[in-house]
Amino acid sequence: MKIFCIGRNYAKHAKELGNDLPTEPLVFCKPETALVKNNGNFYLPDFSKDVHHEVEIVLRVCKQGKHIAEKFAHKYIDQITVGIDFTARDLQNKLRKEGNPWEIAKGFDGSAPIGTFVPLPDIDTPIEFSLTKNDQIVQQGNTTDLIFPFSRLIAHISIYFTLQQGDLIFTGTPEGVGSVQIGDTLKAFIGDECLLQCAVK
Ligand code: ZN
Repeated sequence: MKIFCIGRNYAKHAKELGNDLPTEPLVFCKPETALVKNNGNFYLPDFSKDVHHEVEIVLRVCKQGKHIAEKFAHKYIDQITVGIDFTARDLQNKLRKEGNPWEIAKGFDGSAPIGTFVPLPDIDTPIEFSLTKNDQIVQQGNTTDLIFPFSRLIAHISIYFTLQQGDLIFTGTPEGVGSVQIGDTLKAFIGDECLLQCAVK
């Protein structure tokens, strides 16, 4: 099982971190040990002083494919949820400055909580999603603002990697990323349905 993530897929988020807009999808991976299911806790790692939440729509792959054309991409995704791409921002910035890979800042244990899956009716249906921290809204997104829509992501990833049933794709975060502290409670929503809850310990 593979976990793909897309960086800088919402323009306002790319700008808030001072990044240029990508000309093609920016893909990275997290290992399976990053996953947290069933509203499990997030344990703040002691190697970072600045761990950020990034709420994202997560796609689940339902069948194997390679070199998938955009027009057939919808056949490969059946369910979606919300997830949090936890990021050790201080570590990521240091690694990026040095021109090094950022895996340890993004793929550490527990860095990928995911919520309850719901059916994806149509790959082009706009999806509203949000994140609250201690019941205050901190991030709000709509998939109509994606730089690269779901079908483009599936086509692009499958150039390089065989997609397999059960693989997950974190599709990028909207603006409003910020630090979490021990004691925070995060809740992630699609529309007004809470699909993920995560306590920071
Ligand atoms: Zn992200």
